[in-house]
Amino acid sequence: MNVVLFHRDLRLRDHLPLSAAIRTGTVMPLYVVEPSFWTGNCSIRHYQFVLESLTQLKEQVEERGGTFFFFIGDLEEAFQVLLETYGVFRVFTYLERERHGRIVQWMNKHGLPLTTFSKEGSVEVELSDRRYREKWHEYMEEEQASVPEMFPSINEWPSSFHTDLDECHSLKVPGEKIRFGLEGGELNALDTLATFLQKGGEKPSTMMEAIRFTSQLSPYITWGNISIRHIVQALREKKEIAFNSVIDSLLLRCKIARNSVVSEEKETDHSLLPTITGIPILDAMMNYVKKTGWIDQRSREAIVSMYQAIGMDKSSINRELARLWLDYDPNIHSFYINSCKKSIHPVSFSKKVDPKGTFIRRNVPQLKDVSEKYIHEPWLYPGFFQLDYPAPIIDIYRVYASPKRQSQVNEDQLTLDLK
Ligand SMILES: Cc1cc2nc3c(=O)[nH]c(=O)nc-3n(C[C@H](O)[C@H](O)[C@H](O)COP(=O)(O)OP(=O)(O)OC[C@H]3O[C@@H](n4cnc5c(N)ncnc54)[C@H](O)[C@@H]3O)c2cc1C
Repeated sequence: MNVVLFHRDLRLRDHLPLSAAIRTGTVMPLYVVEPSFWTGNCSIRHYQFVLESLTQLKEQVEERGGTFFFFIGDLEEAFQVLLETYGVFRVFTYLERERHGRIVQWMNKHGLPLTTFSKEGSVEVELSDRRYREKWHEYMEEEQASVPEMFPSINEWPSSFHTDLDECHSLKVPGEKIRFGLEGGELNALDTLATFLQKGGEKPSTMMEAIRFTSQLSPYITWGNISIRHIVQALREKKEIAFNSVIDSLLLRCKIARNSVVSEEKETDHSLLPTITGIPILDAMMNYVKKTGWIDQRSREAIVSMYQAIGMDKSSINRELARLWLDYDPNIHSFYINSCKKSIHPVSFSKKVDPKGTFIRRNVPQLKDVSEKYIHEPWLYPGFFQLDYPAPIIDIYRVYASPKRQSQVNEDQLTLDLK
C-alpha cells in the first residue's frame, strides 16, 4: 500500500511522489492535520488557504475514482495506525525540511520504505552556487510529471482516517482570517498564473503598480498549489525578456530555501506589534497585509525596517509577520528577517512609492480626506487633532537623524541585491 503524504504540495499537476506511487499500485493520498503545526507561526489564514486547497484536491482525486484521506493528530500517530492496519506500507513524499527528519526517523525505526523527491530536482546540499544554478535550469526544462487519469484506490481504511473535510474544520487555529484576497487551490493558482502571463512582467515603481504588476503567485508556491517548474515553463513559452527576471527570482527563492537555517523559538519570546503606529505608510502597508495576506517585496523590507526602528525585536517581527502573510515559508521568511539591515526612512519611502498618497488613503480610513501635501506627514496638518489618528509612536525626525541611521539610508537602492 502506497501512502502519498501531502503537505506543501497541494496539487495534482507535476507531482512526482503521486506519479511514482500510482505507477506502483494502490494509493492512499493523505493529509495529516497536525495541531502542533497550526499553533506555531502558521495561523488561521494559512489554515483557511490549506482547506481551500484541499477542497479542490479532494474533488480532483474523486473525479478520477480515488478517495482522499485526512488524519487529525501527529504524523507518528497516523503512521502507527497505518502500521497496525496494513502491516507494511510505503510513503511517497516531497522533502519538506520542517518535518522530514521525523518521517525518516519513524520509517527507519520500523524498517518501512520511504521514497522522497526534491521539489527542485537536486537534494545535494554541497553543490556550488554555479553548479546548483545549472542543475536547477536543467530540472526546469525536464518534462513535468503527468496528471494521473485514474486513482487505484483502497476499499478499507482505519476508522480514525476521515474522508470528509468537514472533520478538519473543527480545529481551533489562532489568528485573523483573510477578508479579501487570494483563495487557495490548484485551479486558482493556474488562473493567477494565466492572468500574470497576460499582464507581462513589467517593473513596478509605485506601491499600486507593485500590487498590480507582480504575479502574487507566492502563496500558491508556498503551499504547492503549483510547481515552480510549471511556472518557469509557462514563462519561457511566452518568450518575453521581461519574464527572465521572474525566473531569476524563482531561482533565488529556491536557493534561499535550500541554504537558510531556521532557529527554534519559544512562544514566550514574543511581543505583539502595535496595531497602529501613527506612521501612515507603515499603518497602510500593515492594514493591507491584514486584509489580503500579501504585499510586495519592497514593502516587506520597509515594514521590517520600520518596526526595528520602533524598537521591536526581530523574533517578534518574525512571528507576527509570519502569521499574516499567506505565503509564509519558514526558510524564506527567516532569511529576510535576519538580512533586512537597511534603514528605510518612512517619509522618504512613502513619497517615493506612494507619491499621491492613494495607497495610504485606501488603507488608513482615518486619513482618507487628507491632501497630498500632508498625507505622508499628517502631524504637520493644521487639523491633525481632529483626524482620530495618533501621532507617530517614535520621533521620526530624531530617530532617523542619528548619524548611524543616516549613513545606512540609501533611497535609491531599496531592494536587497541578492541575485
Ligand atoms: C521580510 C520578508 C519576508 C519574506 N517572507 C517570504 C515568505 O515567507 N515566503 C515567500 O514566498 N516569500 C517571502 N519573501 C520574498 C518576497 O517578498 C515574496 O516572495 C514576493 O513578494 C512574492 O510576491 P510575488 O509572488 O508577486 O512575486 P513576483 O515578483 O511575481 O515573483 C515570482 C516568484 O518569485 C519568487 N520571488 C520573488 N521575489 C523574491 C525574493 N526577493 N526572494 C525570494 N523569492 C522571490 C516568489 O516565489 C514569487 O512568487 C519575503 C521577503 C521579505 C523582505
